[in-house]
Amino acid sequence: MQEIKNSNEINYIRQACRIVGELLDFLKDIIKPGVTTGWLDQKAEDFIRRKGGTPAFKGYNGFPASICTSVNEEVIHGIPGPYRLKEGDIISIDVGVNKEGYFGDAAITVAVGNISDEKRRLMKVTEEALYAGISKAVAGNHVSDISVAVQRVVESNGFSVVRDYVGHGVGKKLHEEPPIPNFKTAGRGPKLYSGMTIAIEPMVNAGTYEVFVKDDNWTVVTRDGKPSAHFEHTVLVREGEPEILTLV
Ligand code: MG
Repeated sequence: MQEIKNSNEINYIRQACRIVGELLDFLKDIIKPGVTTGWLDQKAEDFIRRKGGTPAFKGYNGFPASICTSVNEEVIHGIPGPYRLKEGDIISIDVGVNKEGYFGDAAITVAVGNISDEKRRLMKVTEEALYAGISKAVAGNHVSDISVAVQRVVESNGFSVVRDYVGHGVGKKLHEEPPIPNFKTAGRGPKLYSGMTIAIEPMVNAGTYEVFVKDDNWTVVTRDGKPSAHFEHTVLVREGEPEILTLV
């Protein structure tokens, strides 16, 4: 059952989402060749706490860090550590913030220095797919309207959409109902109502959509080793245009 939030709850969720958006903006600017993913995680945690939030990912199902850092063929759930970013990498950063019991969740993929044309196009198409999905997050639509819009942008550009992981409701918990797939499934999915807050998050692979989990039990990587990108926003469903809560 999906959660409909009242205006008071939405205001709290908005605050959590603002920290998420500001943090991703901050990280985008300090990502460069030579920095480690562990250093980025420390910067992120400091930032979140300075803003009065707590990192929602840290300890979630045992995850050891405040952000997920997924490089190149890593799709999601990469664990920050000693890896040093190098020119030509792309890195997906996913972050969740808890502010006074309310949650926001978003992700971006960032280029490290100069990257290949394929990676650049992959990032661009993934972000376009996210916005195509967001445009369908309107009261009266169904979840499948979002899914189909995302998938169409991705596949018409020759890339593939990850099937094993999907978007989700968010707000009073990090993960709530309903699931928001990035691909067409049977049926139309739940109806969207004004006051729902959802995380739309296409994970897009340059090659096959197949993925597997590495031996660290967290990091999801592409089956064929080709790169993957990930963009996510937390969005408030309304009548008419949705409000992107993690956009600053
Ligand atoms: Mg999410």
